[in-house]
Amino acid sequence: MPVLFLGHGNPMNAIQKNPFTHMLKELGVNIPTPRLILCISAHWMTQSTWLTHMPKPKTIHDFSGFPQELFNVEYPAPGSPHDAEKIQSLITEASRGSEIRNLSLQLDDHHWGLDHGTWSLLVHMYPQATIPVIQLSLDLSKPPEFHYQLGQHLSVLREQGVLIIGSGNIVHNLRMIKWEENAEPYDWAIEFDQWVKEKILKRDDLSLISDATSSKSGQLSIPTPDHWYPLLYALGASRKTDEIHFDYEAIDHGSIAMRCVRWK
Ligand code: ZN
Repeated sequence: MPVLFLGHGNPMNAIQKNPFTHMLKELGVNIPTPRLILCISAHWMTQSTWLTHMPKPKTIHDFSGFPQELFNVEYPAPGSPHDAEKIQSLITEASRGSEIRNLSLQLDDHHWGLDHGTWSLLVHMYPQATIPVIQLSLDLSKPPEFHYQLGQHLSVLREQGVLIIGSGNIVHNLRMIKWEENAEPYDWAIEFDQWVKEKILKRDDLSLISDATSSKSGQLSIPTPDHWYPLLYALGASRKTDEIHFDYEAIDHGSIAMRCVRWK
């Protein structure tokens, strides 16, 4: 299976038809149909790392100030408790001999479900909602290397029909957002998005892990790490032998990079 990093941007994309959602629809048709989807969403931030373990994860509307139509969206995909347990064992086992040893990956039966980082994409890619979906949370107390290494351990799932999706945004600065349609991107947003593109193409993962916020443009693009870390999971799960495709690139509202990356 390929690995995807998808910029999700404005939750309204879930109920709109635009070039971005058209791309998602095409992607769902053109890549091999997964047996299971594992999504690392920017919107599930936790203490320690969790996997959704419920057979029927609820649709979480984790935003406010949007139209009722968006709150009415349900994405009733099943979960897969059995697969969540298998992923828990895989990671626990793999982490023993690695730098992320003593990782306790916990199973969540009640708290979370599918947040809009996941369903706002999947409603376009897989509108039937029949493929089981599991979410993996972000432990924000951990450094960037941790997230990358955890992504590396997930890579073997690609041979088991699992589609790994990191869902965030490479540039994500809500404080400087310009709400008007077709807003001009900030220079620093263009600069950082291009820097990231270049590093991805050069397979310079180390710079992406260690130097992302060493520039002024990086600091403005990643004011908080939640929308950035999902990229590190996808990078970790990718391989040197994968081809790299940018299925979509744009900067919405001045400060939100919608760049999407596919490794296969
Ligand atoms: Zn978001």
